Amino acid sequence: MILIDGKKVAAELREELKKEVLNLKAKHNKIPGLTVILIGDMAPSQIYVRMKEKAANEVGLKSEVIKYPSEVEEKTVLEKINELNKDSSVSGILVQLPLPEHINKQKVIESIAPKKDVDGFHPMNVGNLSSGYDSSIPCTPLGCYLLIKTIEPNLSGKKAIIIGRSNLNGKPMTQLLLRENCTVTVTHSKTKDLKAECLKGDIIVAAVGIPQLVRGDWIKKDAIVIDVGINKTDKGIVGDVAFEEVSKVAKALTPVPGGVGPMTIACLLKNTIECFKKSN
Ligand code: NAD
Repeated sequence: MILIDGKKVAAELREELKKEVLNLKAKHNKIPGLTVILIGDMAPSQIYVRMKEKAANEVGLKSEVIKYPSEVEEKTVLEKINELNKDSSVSGILVQLPLPEHINKQKVIESIAPKKDVDGFHPMNVGNLSSGYDSSIPCTPLGCYLLIKTIEPNLSGKKAIIIGRSNLNGKPMTQLLLRENCTVTVTHSKTKDLKAECLKGDIIVAAVGIPQLVRGDWIKKDAIVIDVGINKTDKGIVGDVAFEEVSKVAKALTPVPGGVGPMTIACLLKNTIECFKKSN
């Protein structure tokens, strides 16, 4: 079984991005900039934002974090985004989710200029991705896709089973694999006989949020299994895949932690650079 080392692949990607930033600096005399808006003091959001800022600095991007208290008015946030949309030193804008209840998430997402939407959540980018046009691609599914490609460069005709249909993971993952000519089945909480569906998959991407849902006897021999899940349990962080069991059957599998997680942040940096290129 191949353990798909997300940390290593992400480190390699960051090295490439570092070189690209230097090249862009030499060519344009400016560097790509990522601005993150953080609202409130939820610990996980603060940790994620700190990790994003650190990674951005390491590859040489300009990075800025704008913090607001959880009571901030929606109008204030929308005005700031509007200002950032017009600021040519800002290549990418990310609003850390989740937002406090009084702020309309969709309104915030739609206020970000599509060419600065590093998360790929703006409806214009969602539509472009599903239509096969150039678009920002959500970071986690992009990371999963790059990991799958390290194992199998030609995905044409492969049967892929996506578990979970969220806008963040399952749906964009589906579009990315369709683009690669996979035959994709999207499963979700109302799917009947998930095990039978999974057993058909050459590729399985699990993005559910249920600890160790996917068992060893759900997996076709030599399948590639990508575990997006991050679940806090008494035994620490575990994925959506029963690692020990599945590792005995799969051809390749991502660990949790150290699989998809590091790729998500590296892909955010990649998206920031792509946004810079679109604006310059
Ligand atoms: P979500 O809650 O938005 O979506 C979960 C999906 O799973 C839904 O579509 C639902 O229909 C489906 N589902 C629920 N129960 C099911 C069942 N019994 N059988 C089949 N499908 C079922 O979650 P999300 O935001 O997509 O996140 C999923 C997991 O990925 C979470 O554990 C989250 O923490 C993790 N995550 C990891 C990263 C990363 O960087 N590694 C990034 C984002 C999310």
